[in-house]
Amino acid sequence: MAEKKHRLVSVPLLSVICSMLYVYCSTVFIFLDEWLGIGTASGILNAIIFSWLAFMTFFSFFVAVLTDPGSVPPFFAPAVEDARHDSGDAVYCEKCCSYKPPRTHHCRVCKRCVLKMDHHCIWINTCVGYKNYKSFVIFALHASLGSCYAMVIFVSNLMQKEHDFGIVSAKLFYALSGLVILSASLSSTSLFCWHVYLLAHNMTTIEYRGAQKDRWLANRSGQKYRHPFDLGFFQNLILIFGPNMLKWFCPTAVGHLGDGTQFPISND
Ligand SMILES: [Zn+2]
Ligand SMILES: [Zn+2]
Repeated sequence: MAEKKHRLVSVPLLSVICSMLYVYCSTVFIFLDEWLGIGTASGILNAIIFSWLAFMTFFSFFVAVLTDPGSVPPFFAPAVEDARHDSGDAVYCEKCCSYKPPRTHHCRVCKRCVLKMDHHCIWINTCVGYKNYKSFVIFALHASLGSCYAMVIFVSNLMQKEHDFGIVSAKLFYALSGLVILSASLSSTSLFCWHVYLLAHNMTTIEYRGAQKDRWLANRSGQKYRHPFDLGFFQNLILIFGPNMLKWFCPTAVGHLGDGTQFPISND
């Protein structure tokens, strides 16, 4: 637990929390209030929907930060004696002096092997791996929806309300808010779209980079590259989000995850 609390002490992570709080408070208590008024029916409705998106963004963010991305179980040994896994990864980590399950990679920042490692994320101050990938994608989805919603409220406020931009502080506040909301919308939406692409192919960011040569060779010989773990879009979603669709958007519903050492491979 102490190690988990340490994860919260990081400048990039705290800057994400501050940006999220800034966007939430300025959107609800200034832009929405000035535009519709939070006492009106339409103002309350917008505030409830936006608050729900903000709550889900915060909640899934903290679940992603505080969930261990996945360690190699002690005494793990590969089932086959091949020198490499089907995905082409080495089966032995020289730094940890232990065997690695398929899709596991050594993180130089965390200084350990991480199951189904996607990437080390400085914004959550830990790796995105097998156990926290679901919460990370749910975070990206809600951050994207929430920041785009904030953008709509901000622009509506700008267009429908008379502003006195002769006051320098008001001009600066609107410029800063517009910049923060625009950057949040662009970065979270592009992050979410990227992970939808990876999810569609059951690929990690590391595997995407590693497969570039295979993809190029397949294209050159007129064939379509198929990732070995790609079981088809819907099946890939079930592997990440679980078989019960009612729990797809719950970041803590991860009972469907196994020990992260075995992954089904496509027969195609
Ligand atoms: Zn290692
Ligand atoms: Zn890491």
